[in-house]
Amino acid sequence: MPQWVLDEADGRAPAVEQWRSWTPAPPPRQRRRRNWTGLGTAVLVVAVVSLGVVADHHGLLPGARPAASADMPTPGVDAADDPLGTPPLAPVGAGAYDFLAVQDDGVTPVAYDPCRPVHYVVRPDNAPFGADQLVPDAVARVSAVTGLQFVYDGSTDEAPSQPRDLFQPDRYGDRWAPLLITWDEVSENADLAADVAGLGGSTPVGRAGGPLVYVTGSVALDAAQFTDILAQPGGADVARAIVLHELGHAVGLGHVSDPTQLMYPEASSVFDFAAGDLEGLARLGAGACEPGL
Ligand SMILES: [Zn+2]
Repeated sequence: MPQWVLDEADGRAPAVEQWRSWTPAPPPRQRRRRNWTGLGTAVLVVAVVSLGVVADHHGLLPGARPAASADMPTPGVDAADDPLGTPPLAPVGAGAYDFLAVQDDGVTPVAYDPCRPVHYVVRPDNAPFGADQLVPDAVARVSAVTGLQFVYDGSTDEAPSQPRDLFQPDRYGDRWAPLLITWDEVSENADLAADVAGLGGSTPVGRAGGPLVYVTGSVALDAAQFTDILAQPGGADVARAIVLHELGHAVGLGHVSDPTQLMYPEASSVFDFAAGDLEGLARLGAGACEPGL
């Protein structure tokens, strides 16, 4: 069964303290610089939650292969014959990237099915003031750099959970549950404590002998930290960077040790996907179509 797999929180305690203790007092120029440093630190010290790398690479959702199974939707819901979009040409070899999971060949990334839309819902509870456009803007960016087509299915009252049910017919109908984006309070998501501003990941499923395909995922954003970040000068860019980073995880990117990439897990002044990120994202947009799921 799927389970939340916590990757490293990768915290840098001193930097986090810096952010936590930061107050808007110093002279403007200095403040700005320090401010960015602090914000970037808080931001990109994020944990990866790969939402459950499920079982093995062959018999996922054990016993759930038949279409009529109560554990999975009718296969191929929403699936077209061809990819709905095309990943843009990305720089090759110009930066580091990594994947959260790869297929049995050890090379090909696990990705969403490009022949069907990636549906997502947002739970609006706790949303910070000024955050309305954050998620749709970041989703649009991820769509542009992967070619994956995202469809917003509206708001939800589904709370984050571990493990989350991949198939919730009562709530979402006969299809895989949509990607769930939530603004969490630390009290309901202990994984967001301290230095963690966001979590993101998706769950792969596969048929026997077929590729693993992400069918749904979650992005959890720390409502309190975003509120603080958005209140700072330039905070919108930082907030957007966090959401992009988490969505990067959600579509399959892992962390890299190259600090010039947005998927670097720690302090950074990178606020958008860089060359390596873009190469990885383009590959993630070119996954296998799997109408059998
Ligand atoms: Zn991360």
